[in-house]
Amino acid sequence: MKAVVTGGAGFIGSHLCDHLIAHGHEVLVLDDLSTGSETNLEQLSGNPDFELVKGSILDKTLVRDVISECDTVFHLAAAVGVHTIVDKPLQSLRTNLHGTENVVEAAAARGARFLVASTSEVYGKNDTDGLTEDADRILGSPLKSRWSYAAAKGLDELVAYVYGEETGLPCVITRFFNIVGPRQTGRYGMVVPRFVGQALAGEPITVYGDGTQRRCFGSVFDIIPAVVKLMETPAAYNRAVNLGGLEEVTIRGLAERVVELTGSSSRIEYVSYEDAYGEGYEDMQRRMPDTALAGGLIGYKPQRRLDDIIG
Ligand code: NAD
Repeated sequence: MKAVVTGGAGFIGSHLCDHLIAHGHEVLVLDDLSTGSETNLEQLSGNPDFELVKGSILDKTLVRDVISECDTVFHLAAAVGVHTIVDKPLQSLRTNLHGTENVVEAAAARGARFLVASTSEVYGKNDTDGLTEDADRILGSPLKSRWSYAAAKGLDELVAYVYGEETGLPCVITRFFNIVGPRQTGRYGMVVPRFVGQALAGEPITVYGDGTQRRCFGSVFDIIPAVVKLMETPAAYNRAVNLGGLEEVTIRGLAERVVELTGSSSRIEYVSYEDAYGEGYEDMQRRMPDTALAGGLIGYKPQRRLDDIIG
């Protein structure tokens, strides 16, 4: 495989690069280092099969150039993190919409297989048990404060579908549900690294809302092999596929678990959504994936438990 990974200097992207290189593939990363970092890739520097190009997916000419010699594109670059999205909704929309258009267009021109990282946020405020990939649920119910992110990712999915249908581009859409693991930073609002950082520093662990909201956290080490397998599975082409963990926990329970596992003396503090993110912020009470489709397509079965992930 000669792969391009956009957003490869980020949390998920850098683990994908490690996996691809370890399996004998060539990898070229395009990343503007806005939320990613070169240190995430320092273990690969000097490897003749690896290259990092610093630049933006908004630069159409650069995107074409970078993709001109590959056979596979993993498109992970995006404006991410609750703070980024709530503070700069239009800028996020632009990156996540126009950037994807540039990347998918270049992949189609090259005839390269294409995967786009989408998100559980496309399900909007849907609290049902085990969200399934049914198309009629996409963007079904707006989540006001993060709508620009959900809308752009939903549109990214549709653009990928259209390219797949109209040009025969082999394309896969992965909907990630709260993926966590090493190299994820708490700077942009991700809850697990933020809690662990606060616990290790002996600072209060700040739970937003009342902590009864429930989430399933998926290990990056479970989803990376799944991402690569989906790309190699023609039955997955032009489908959206959920990927995530299945162990559900309340955010309050997560905070307590982090305190216990780190042996911290931090106390847990509750902060209103309004104080954390500003007026009008909304969050989902529950978000849990149904991963039966990934199970059927590639035998996906998450192995890592929350304690392994935090540890
Ligand atoms: P991340 O911030 O670590 O990675 C995103 C990367 O994209 C960063 O390296 C950043 O520098 C890069 N980037 C941003 N704008 C860019 C631009 N204009 N041009 C080039 N590079 C740019 O976040 P992550 O958690 O690794 O997310 C990777 C992908 O997975 C994203 O598309 C995200 O929407 C999606 N996703 C992640 C999760 C999760 O739980 N982590 C959940 C749902 C979806």
